[in-house]
Amino acid sequence: MKLGFDIDDTLINLREHAFHIYTRKLGKDVDIAAFHALDKVNIHEIFDLTAEQGKQMWISSMEEIYFTDCPPYPAAIETLQELDKRGHEIYYITARPKKHGERTRQWMIDKGFPVRDERFFYGMQDEEKIHIIEELDLDYYFDDKPAVLNTLNQDSLKVYVKDQSYNRHLDIPRIMEWSDLMKIL
Ligand SMILES: [Mg+2]
Repeated sequence: MKLGFDIDDTLINLREHAFHIYTRKLGKDVDIAAFHALDKVNIHEIFDLTAEQGKQMWISSMEEIYFTDCPPYPAAIETLQELDKRGHEIYYITARPKKHGERTRQWMIDKGFPVRDERFFYGMQDEEKIHIIEELDLDYYFDDKPAVLNTLNQDSLKVYVKDQSYNRHLDIPRIMEWSDLMKIL
């Protein structure tokens, strides 16, 4: 089977990693409960930043957010390794900017994710993921973002949402834990 995965907040806990970086850089002691209650992807509000300040904060922190020690979700690496071992094709489709694409690929390899050369896509807009997903003719696709998931409704594709506080309104089959994936397939 061909399975496609988003990376950030689907396979790795990026926003929470960013939350801790913001807390340290801004010297603000924001309760993690506020983070877990967010109903949107962006995290700047709980730090009392405007949208523009939030954007600048994200851009200026991007290097640290992407390429330090962001933790993968429990069982994510092991589950994808097992799928790879069983002969399934694993594709990564991330909207991370083009200039960070190759480094992100290497970072994923260093973390232990099974990455095969040509099965790694980056640098597209959220709503453009659908073109790659269609072209690849995937059987399954996993993502966390409503902006992406709302564009995917082909009959042949099984779409799953990785559970997050900002996507609970979506009526799509849901992945709570990566250890559950083998039971689903
Ligand atoms: Mg994502």
